[in-house]
Amino acid sequence: MLERLKDHFGFDAFLPGQEEIITTVLDKNDALVLMPTGGGKSLCYQLPALCFDGLTVVVSPLIALMKDQVDNLRANGIAGAYLNSTLTASQSAKVQAMAKNGDFKILYLAPERLALPGFRQFLSTLTVSLFAIDEAHCISEWGHDFRPDYRNLKTLRRDFPDVPLIALTATATEQVQGDIIAQLGLRDPGVFISGLNRSNLTYTVRHKRKAFDALVDLLSAHKNESAIVYCFSRKDTENLAEDLGAVGLKALPYHAGLSREMRQDNQEKFIHDRVPIIVATIAFGMGIDKPDVRLLVHYDLPKSLEGYYQETGRAGRDGLPSECVLFYSLGDKVKHDFFIDQMEQVEEKENARLKLSQVVEYCELNTCRRRHLLAYFGESPQDANCGGCDICLTPREEYDATEIAQKILSAVIRTGQRFGGRYIAQVLQGSGSKKVKENGHQDLTVFGIARESTDDDLKQVTNALVNQRLMVKSVGTYPTLSVTAEGMAFLKGRDSLTLDKPKAVAENSAGFQAEVIPPNLELLEVLRDLRTNIADQRNLPAYVIFGDASLRQMASHLPKSRESFSRITGVGSVKLEELSGPFLKVIVEYAEANGLAEIPIDSGRANARQRTSGRQRTGDRRSRDSSSSTLNHTKELVELKLSVDEIAQRRSLASSTVAGQIERLVQDGAALDLDHLMPPPERMETIKAAFLRTGDVRLAPVRESLGDGYSYDEIRMVRIALFPNGVIVPEHAE
Ligand code: ADP
Ligand code: ZN
Repeated sequence: MLERLKDHFGFDAFLPGQEEIITTVLDKNDALVLMPTGGGKSLCYQLPALCFDGLTVVVSPLIALMKDQVDNLRANGIAGAYLNSTLTASQSAKVQAMAKNGDFKILYLAPERLALPGFRQFLSTLTVSLFAIDEAHCISEWGHDFRPDYRNLKTLRRDFPDVPLIALTATATEQVQGDIIAQLGLRDPGVFISGLNRSNLTYTVRHKRKAFDALVDLLSAHKNESAIVYCFSRKDTENLAEDLGAVGLKALPYHAGLSREMRQDNQEKFIHDRVPIIVATIAFGMGIDKPDVRLLVHYDLPKSLEGYYQETGRAGRDGLPSECVLFYSLGDKVKHDFFIDQMEQVEEKENARLKLSQVVEYCELNTCRRRHLLAYFGESPQDANCGGCDICLTPREEYDATEIAQKILSAVIRTGQRFGGRYIAQVLQGSGSKKVKENGHQDLTVFGIARESTDDDLKQVTNALVNQRLMVKSVGTYPTLSVTAEGMAFLKGRDSLTLDKPKAVAENSAGFQAEVIPPNLELLEVLRDLRTNIADQRNLPAYVIFGDASLRQMASHLPKSRESFSRITGVGSVKLEELSGPFLKVIVEYAEANGLAEIPIDSGRANARQRTSGRQRTGDRRSRDSSSSTLNHTKELVELKLSVDEIAQRRSLASSTVAGQIERLVQDGAALDLDHLMPPPERMETIKAAFLRTGDVRLAPVRESLGDGYSYDEIRMVRIALFPNGVIVPEHAE
């Protein structure tokens, strides 16, 4: 099976769950598979399809995705086809004839086909080995996406009693799971549930302040990568796309109000990487399955956490690290409230209000966001720190919040427990606002007792007091605060309270463990261009040629032979044959022009770790932020014989920083082979002589005596060779 996996799909190992599921299916047992987006569901029926003699029939409601799936299969040399309403009658007839002839291994079908008696008749003439029901939750009325057409699937079991059925979905409550099993008539199915967590996504909430600039920064940080920005209204999407265009970021709008052609055209441009950014209402995304969306922004507040989780699910389907950012402001909440107020049905209105309050609660968390989301869907991860949300990634520090907590609680009590957090803050800060005066609150003893606190400080503590149940916040358009019995006890008992707050340090956006061997970014760009060119020639989306994981690995390891190229993830036998030529040519040329050596993929180590960099269980992931791990990372790259410049480029550090790290490593006793870092022998001698001549161990005087032709980095390397135990440089001398 592993051989087939590499040969047909180019992968070296299974993702969690895949092997067990595939074994079940190969044993001709039924299966129900619940796996999050990007978990690798398709492989669970595609690999068995290749092992069985007959045809695997895949039922899917997502017509727009079928062509893509089939293109993907064909790029790997697997005979696939689809039948849906986008084909003409004669095209359909041709596909059917070929299917009958046994020309395909996999056939995708839209469910409504099964309602046509003629088609069922046709199906019964084929040798079907396996039925795969994708998006299986659509069969259940209890689910969120019931499709009446799926009811046609109920008779499959009756008509094909011996053909195994595999049902797959990313979302199904227990009730829906039971319903899927019952409706499809699954017989004693293997049930595989792998949870909802998307460990390769980071979740961040930002204050919607100077939001446009912040958005531009985010998009610039993801230059040349695909991004989706969700907005509230159709008008907003158009305006924002235009504004982004004005600052040089290519973006297109997408919403249900655009003409059909326009929508298709914009979507097409996005899928084919001609335009990196789509600004859309949430209508966008249903029909696309672009695997390499690296940034997903909610520029406005989503309506519910269900919606939010589903929309963010469209990021990083290929399992590589991707970012989800939500911009939050109270103004947006008020905007939603306005629409909710117009709802006529009381029940609907209350439900909408509840959903919205859950979103607001999520935004105001000061505990792990991932944990909160998963808990919302009924899962309980053990780890308190996920290492992949803004809360867990921001270093925090504890402080004594007793006094400020007492002040806030007192102010809430003194003002009669009928105001919200902002008003309480005004009173505490001694604001001269009209409302405070009208209420006569400038005469209270609590007025102005926290003048030195900022809005943010107070808000932070207020939220923490609510989280710790010392206060409660009412639900509604204008939530008010009141003190609980516990809050009273806290005040009376003169208890102390320790809270933590974000440590004031430079923002660290590197949420994920860095790849062991980061790619050469310049080469990565060149490879991307090549990929786009080939994709355009073949009129395919770029990701069908190679996914980002493959390109990154190429730019990390610089394979120079067919043999090394074949070890790249995603390179199966067909892609090796068809694509190794042009890719190898570009890699070899680049490596030669820049004097770079190949770094062998010893398939166990680098490969597996690289692949799992974004996939490990949440708890195993920690950002490499401590200084010892960044030193170690440099050490690993030195051991792989990368040059100082090359390490600097790949790690986005200054070369002087890298050279300094190497010096520290050697001084700390690391046994490093540094030969490849030393200048050629002649230069080395000259530099050594300069150290002796000047009698100085500092870099600057030595460089001065040598002249401009010598760099600090090479002088430093020679210094390491001369004084491996370190030099004592007068402080601040360098
Ligand atoms: P799902 O349908 O569950 O959302 P896909 O089947 O689209 O997931 O797979 C998600 C991504 O993972 C794809 O880019 C796919 O190529 C990749 N993938 C699947 N199986 C493996 C594997 N065994 N090793 C590496 N990558 C894999
Ligand atoms: Zn977290």
